[in-house]
This record gives sequence, C-alpha cells and structure tokens, in this order.
Amino acid sequence: MTETFDLVVIGSGAAAQSVASRCRTTGWTVAMVDKRPFGGTCALRGCDPKKVLVGAAAAIDAARLLSGKGVRPDNVAIDWTELIRFKRTFTDPHPENLKAQLARAGIVTAQSSNKAIAVNLTVEVNLVFIQILPHMVMIWPVAKL
Ligand SMILES: Cc1cc2nc3c(=O)[nH]c(=O)nc-3n(C[C@H](O)[C@H](O)[C@H](O)COP(=O)(O)OP(=O)(O)OC[C@H]3O[C@@H](n4cnc5c(N)ncnc54)[C@H](O)[C@@H]3O)c2cc1C
Repeated sequence: MTETFDLVVIGSGAAAQSVASRCRTTGWTVAMVDKRPFGGTCALRGCDPKKVLVGAAAAIDAARLLSGKGVRPDNVAIDWTELIRFKRTFTDPHPENLKAQLARAGIVTAQSSNKAIAVNLTVEVNLVFIQILPHMVMIWPVAKL
C-alpha cells in the first residue's frame, strides 16, 4: 500500500516536531519517520536525562563543598542503578507517549531504516525535497508552491 503525504519529516526530535505540527495545523497531511525510538536526542539521550545525572552529581558536589561547614558528606553517594532506573521512568515511556500525541494531532508515524528512507525519497523526489542538516530541517514542498 502506498500513502502520499504533503510532508514527510525525517527524524522525531524537537526540530521535526516543530515543523510537523506547524504544517499539520495548516491542514497538510504529515508523516514522521525515525530510525531510532521516537523523541530525538533531547528527550531520550540529551537535555532531559542529562539534567537528572547532573543533578545527582551536583548534590554530591554540594555536600562535599559543605563538609566541615555543617554538612557531613560521608554517606552521600550516587546509587547508579537506582539513578538510571529513575531516569528510565521518563525516558522509556516517551517514544510511545509521543507517538500517541502525534497520532492525536493526525500525524502518521513510522519506524524506518536509513535504507527505507532513501528509497522513499527517491520515489517522492519530484514532490518534496527535504534536506537534513545537523539540528536543522529544511523543507521545500514543491507540490504546495
Ligand atoms: C548529552 C546532551 C545534552 C544536551 N543538553 C542540552 C540542553 O541542556 N539544552 C539544550 O538546549 N540542548 C541540549 N542538547 C542538544 C539538544 O539535544 C539538540 O540540540 C536537539 O536534540 C537537536 O534536536 P533536533 O530535532 O535537531 O535533532 P535530534 O533530536 O537529534 O533528532 C534527530 C532525529 O533524526 C533521526 N534520524 C537521523 N537520521 C535519520 C535517518 N537517516 N533516518 C531516520 N531517522 C533519522 C534520529 O534518530 C533522531 O531521532 C544536548 C545534547 C546532548 C547530546
């Protein structure tokens, strides 16, 4: 079965979500594909999980800095297993939550390999030209011009 979309966004991170939702709001049919779990770097591997890890390290650091100033840091330690378990409580459900949110907005999602995307772009090249740069999505939907 073949489906045609006004816009196919490659990637599901912050940039892709922004482009997809804006175009969908104007009535375009939009699909989003990613080769990794949906959510992109920030939510799954970057900003959000980093803040948990940095927060734990900062707590240890603060306790040590206050040693001899009213805080006893002796038993303050990072429990790595527990910390990662906590991090996963919000990173693990994120892909499915995001896909459900996109579905509610009428954006079709698909897991894809590099190869599958290459094939799709070859087929769709006359309709939509998509250029992906690091941290940037540039889209010229020729069919809409
Ligand atoms: C450790 C770390 C900490 C960070 N902390 C912060 C922070 O505190 N504040 C901040 O502002 N920024 C932070 N960043 C940067 C932030 O994560 C990125 O700027 C942001 O995620 C970029 O979003 P994006 O949508 O452009 O790309 P991404 O979120 O990286 O999304 C790109 C998506 O495209 C998919 N993709 C790529 N190629 C293909 C392909 N060929 N086929 C299918 N899918 C493909 C990838 O799987 C990925 O899901 C951090 C980054 C890291 C690594």
